[in-house]
Amino acid sequence: MTTIKISLGSLGGTVSMTKEATEAGVKPRLTATDLIASVGQPLDGLEIFAENILQVPSSYITFEHVLQCYDWAKQQVSEGAEGIVLTQGTDTLEETAYLLDLLWDSDVPLVLMGAMRSPQQAGAEGPGNLLASLLTASSVNSCGRGVLVVMNNWIHEARWVQKNHTADVDAFQSQVGVSGTVFESQCQYFKAPSKRYVFDRPQQSIPQVFLWESSLSDSVKLLDMIAAEYQGIVVSAFGAGHVSEDMANQLGELAQKLPIVVSSATLKGSTASQTYGYVGGEIDLQNKGITMSEWLSPKKARLLLSVVLANGLSMDEYKQYLASLTY
Ligand code: ASP
Repeated sequence: MTTIKISLGSLGGTVSMTKEATEAGVKPRLTATDLIASVGQPLDGLEIFAENILQVPSSYITFEHVLQCYDWAKQQVSEGAEGIVLTQGTDTLEETAYLLDLLWDSDVPLVLMGAMRSPQQAGAEGPGNLLASLLTASSVNSCGRGVLVVMNNWIHEARWVQKNHTADVDAFQSQVGVSGTVFESQCQYFKAPSKRYVFDRPQQSIPQVFLWESSLSDSVKLLDMIAAEYQGIVVSAFGAGHVSEDMANQLGELAQKLPIVVSSATLKGSTASQTYGYVGGEIDLQNKGITMSEWLSPKKARLLLSVVLANGLSMDEYKQYLASLTY
């Protein structure tokens, strides 16, 4: 019987967290091998190589760790892996998946997964999520789709997926709908693969871009200080990408010095481009040299800007990437 080679790398997260009797809460403990054993059924047809890459809560993951995972996954592919699965915490999963997706220049499926319930909790869904991820990573239908996130039997594209619940096992949603599902052990897609637009793996450290969350009666006093420390700013703005008059004027000045992107805090829908005409509306912001992130969420708009800057590219390249997201 031919087998499919899968490499599984574990990074920690709730899926791996257990608690000793004397402890107050769970901590990352299960290894990649423990996670495979937890599936509790033979994985016929799969030859799995398992390795611990990190053992941390996902809030500890850095850009450097993501590059480490990218290098590990590429190494696995060069050694013959036909599918890659990374397990990690759910808190930053949408970001690590997207950062990897911006760089993943292979047709080999790269699947990220986690769990909302820890292994000792009733109804722990980690083993089921891992099985669905292994099936997704080993399916020929997953090739050429970039980085995928598999949670609760749904297959999401890294670019669209967002965590939007603190505890629900169905915490992950894609604002444009899921790509596919794992049903009766079959990996089924509803959509053709999206256009891929991939950047070079940054050779230097990835620059820091500041993510500013807008709120009512915001003070813009800190913006100058932020602009001095960071190489770009993404504003998670109101509605379809709107800010106060003060903020618009300040951002307009800063846009002469560093890239500014405005995104929507609503997390669903695109920023507007030609609807609102007041100062701080999207028409004014664009006239001031600010880029609207369109369908990209603020966190993803920030990661895209970080990778564009890390590669020494211009905002034209940023906009070309945005254009590639739709047909
Ligand atoms: N706090 C955990 C983490 O991100 C949450 C999870 O894994 O679901 O590591």
